[in-house]
Amino acid sequence: MSTNNSQLLIYTSLITSRISYIFHFIFDEILGIEYTIVTNIDSFKQSNDPKIAYAVENTWTHSAFFEAHPLLHEMMIKNQEMDISEYQNYKIFFKTSEKSILPFDLFAASFYLVARYEEYLPYHADQFNRFPASESLAYKNQFLEEPIINQWCMILKNRLITMFPTLDFKTRSFKFISTIDIDNAYAHLHKGIVRTFLSGTQLLVKQPSKLLQKINVLRRKIQDPYDNYEYLFKTHQTKNIETIYFILFSKYGKYDKNLNPKNKTFKSLVKKISSLYPVGLHPSYASNKNFEILKNEKEALESLMGKQITKSRQHFLKMKLPNTYENLAALGIEEDYSMGYPEKPGFRAGTCSPFNFFNLKTNQAGKLKIFPFAIMDVTFKDYLGSSTSSTLIKIKKIISSIQKVDGLFISLWHNESLNPSNDQFSWRYVYERMLDRTKNGS
Ligand SMILES: [Zn+2]
Repeated sequence: MSTNNSQLLIYTSLITSRISYIFHFIFDEILGIEYTIVTNIDSFKQSNDPKIAYAVENTWTHSAFFEAHPLLHEMMIKNQEMDISEYQNYKIFFKTSEKSILPFDLFAASFYLVARYEEYLPYHADQFNRFPASESLAYKNQFLEEPIINQWCMILKNRLITMFPTLDFKTRSFKFISTIDIDNAYAHLHKGIVRTFLSGTQLLVKQPSKLLQKINVLRRKIQDPYDNYEYLFKTHQTKNIETIYFILFSKYGKYDKNLNPKNKTFKSLVKKISSLYPVGLHPSYASNKNFEILKNEKEALESLMGKQITKSRQHFLKMKLPNTYENLAALGIEEDYSMGYPEKPGFRAGTCSPFNFFNLKTNQAGKLKIFPFAIMDVTFKDYLGSSTSSTLIKIKKIISSIQKVDGLFISLWHNESLNPSNDQFSWRYVYERMLDRTKNGS
């Protein structure tokens, strides 16, 4: 075997689909290191390359031994025993014996989180039949707000550098993508006579001040409070922000309240946005029960934009594993941006880095790429009822945790949150400070 000291040789007795998946994620995607996996112990022993062994038993006497938890050699989904402890101030689980170079199986633990293992086990769903943060290992053990897999990988990197100073790691740098969901293109305009009349009547009874706003918007005396598109275009251009818009383009329903896809103003708004930025589908709540609805929404939006859609994010972040991702992949979606909890900020999959979907039901990796988001406006505004100042503190904390691991920060905002206001307590103010933070790290 040739000697190439910038590459890593990894021995494992059997290359399972779980092992090749998680090695790819950790060594390729996060650490940016070239590696080869071998199952022949003799050629492994003979090689002069930097090398490590990942196995249940240490059949090799060298010190670079990573003891394997059974998880990555299994094919089924079953309840796993969890023993949370701490190592270098980080939460860890799947403990190993003293023979192992790390006190836990970093690969199995990362797989458990990133493949969303716990979402395939029985759980108490929320009112929209979603997997709630409160059921997750990360939330129960206070590490939901840490990109824990990326942090573990920093430990791994340091260990590897100490053992093999010639190893080559590709350097990555912090990156930011702002993503915007359009659930309600306009608050009052273009809703059609019947919807306008009915909601006006309701406001007269319940919120007379909102009725006044509505009348003034309809008379074009003030701007529609959801019409913040020019503001977003200008701000993102000035600050050079990478942006993706996700548009709800569906029939009207209890949880799907955007404008009618046939509405002229709505159509020209969609065209305008798609001429400037990547646009993804925002599959309606109703589409979760019916593949045909999902397909129709995608085709309608594609035909309006004259472009293929390859990106998607679930409206209400409603998803069920693996069905939702299977359906999206079947429709030609390549990137999904739904991975995050509606009710809590943080890292649902334990990482800020994009990763391929691993289908635990078929025990195979898929082509669909998952882009996890870390914060959403509605989480703070509605679910947590946080003040804008405490929200800003939390957002800055999360951004700096991502900056420390040179990761990807994805935020999720709605056009509805960004109405014009000059004061320091507006959500637009929070949004702008968040953007600044991603630029200068101050
Ligand atoms: Zn939505």
